[in-house]
Amino acid sequence: MRRASDGTILRIRRFLSGRRPPAVPRTMLFSPSLPPETPLDERDGRYLRKAIAWSHAGRRRGNRPFGAVIVSADGQVLAEDYCNSTETGDVTGHAETNAVRKLAGRGFTREQLAEATIYSSAEPCVMCAGAIFWANIGRVVFGIDAERLRAFRGERGDQRDAELSCRDVFRASPHPIECIGPALLGEAGAAHDGAWKA
Ligand SMILES: [Zn+2]
Repeated sequence: MRRASDGTILRIRRFLSGRRPPAVPRTMLFSPSLPPETPLDERDGRYLRKAIAWSHAGRRRGNRPFGAVIVSADGQVLAEDYCNSTETGDVTGHAETNAVRKLAGRGFTREQLAEATIYSSAEPCVMCAGAIFWANIGRVVFGIDAERLRAFRGERGDQRDAELSCRDVFRASPHPIECIGPALLGEAGAAHDGAWKA
């Protein structure tokens, strides 16, 4: 697979942060095989933007920019958090897993959570997909997808992710987990502009 040049990555970052119209270079990052952006309705857009706001809040505290919000079927925010791995040293402190932990001991039933949605500023990693499965959350809406995020992660060993899609994890679930994304790519991607080590 051809590695994108630094110039290409810069153009992608400008595109994602909305500072320039999409000049789409023919690289693997913008290949037609990448998933297209999914349009969202007003409600999903509102809560995904809230998750993206958490990603900025986490970044301001020195963390990697990820945020998550869990919302019940009737629109109540059940839990929300950002990735705090850097400030805590806890490598499991991803936004979605942190938000799932906040559900503990609060009396939510499996049925309630099956009807809930978790909004994540980025596609959940393997660990967070597992946490979403164990929480019995029935619906996921995410911002930037893992493949595009790799343009920001680069090749550093401490920044690369395990390249298994959350959809593969959800497909292995005995109960259905609806997964929607990528969405709001420009807004979700902007949080990552300049946030990763070269
Ligand atoms: Zn994660």
